[in-house]
Amino acid sequence: MADQAGGKPFLQFSNVKKTYDHKTLVVKDFNLEVAQGEFITLLGPSGSGKTTCLMMLAGFEDVTSGEILINGRSVTSIAPYQRNIGMVFQQYALFPHMTLRENLAYPLKIRKQPKEQIRAKVEEYLALVELQDFGGRYPGQLSGGQRQRVALARALIFAPDIVLMDEPLGALDKKLREQMQFEIKRLHEQLGFTVIYVTHDQTEALTMSDRIAVFENGIVQQCAPPDVLYERPANLFVADFIGESNKLKGVIETVGSDTVGVRLEDGSKVDTLKANCTEVGLPTMVSVRPEKLTFTDRLGSAGNQVKARFITRHYVGEYIRYHFETADGTELVVKNLNDSSAPQLSAKDEVALAWLPQDSQALDRPAVSAAP
Ligand code: ADP
Ligand code: MG
Repeated sequence: MADQAGGKPFLQFSNVKKTYDHKTLVVKDFNLEVAQGEFITLLGPSGSGKTTCLMMLAGFEDVTSGEILINGRSVTSIAPYQRNIGMVFQQYALFPHMTLRENLAYPLKIRKQPKEQIRAKVEEYLALVELQDFGGRYPGQLSGGQRQRVALARALIFAPDIVLMDEPLGALDKKLREQMQFEIKRLHEQLGFTVIYVTHDQTEALTMSDRIAVFENGIVQQCAPPDVLYERPANLFVADFIGESNKLKGVIETVGSDTVGVRLEDGSKVDTLKANCTEVGLPTMVSVRPEKLTFTDRLGSAGNQVKARFITRHYVGEYIRYHFETADGTELVVKNLNDSSAPQLSAKDEVALAWLPQDSQALDRPAVSAAP
């Protein structure tokens, strides 16, 4: 996927490590190949090393070891301004004493483009972010969303090959953030630049990205397209970080080619997809998404079942969240569409919660040391 015509990836992080204090590695061994035009998101908790990776790519931080290559060429000796990279941050960093036109002209001026060309480009990019009537205003006279659109236009106006965006929508409210996500995707599709996007918001990552690299503590836990991350998380960290997961403790009892049989703590046996826990006798966690579990009879007798008691329900509008508890105290969340034909439940009602083997995975669970 990341291969270009010449066989070399467009952008490559190769065994990249970073320490600020010569003791702790904040980026442990980062490997990533990016195709031209791809939209890649680095997703992870605060402090997991995402911004550091962007800073190394932009040239504002040194790489401690390893290499970053653009078109197969190491960027180590290339100055930041020569890397042809555009950047958008959460703090807009527009020049407050310059009008929007002057702000947009700035990156072209320092690149010594001819005046006429700059004038035309500025109008083109003002229109591109739908601010054609605001060119004479100062940043202080704009709303947060408008300022961020100017920042976006300023990052794109010199036609960079790569655009880095570090939590660019973090300061905006939910509605505006969703509009801007759409706006960024539209510009990405229209102009075809490559994006490395940083966020800690998983919904944002899932809706915008071609691929997502999930960071934890300086390590990429999984790098995959959104649907693969969600449907086939590689481990418990990813299963918990992306979306919501129900987890049932058990032990692997049988191992097939694609599936494993698991004996759960309440004694029931279920079948599930094989993931990173594949040997008979190993402790495992069966992970199932809330929308894959049902207490209606829509699966008939197919699939897995566990018994659970109804605790409570929360009305969310388009769907309803139900809370259940198994005999061994495991809490299970079920999200079902708001469907008036679903059975009515009263507190403590016992139901069978069902799901299909292909909608769950057996993930590695560290064994708890035996009680003394
Ligand atoms: P993220 O963007 O995922 O929140 P960062 O890359 O900013 O993570 O930070 C990763 C780790 O590196 C954190 O522990 C942070 O405190 C540390 N760090 C980041 N920048 C610096 C710096 N300039 N000097 C020293 N430590 C830093
Ligand atoms: Mg950061």
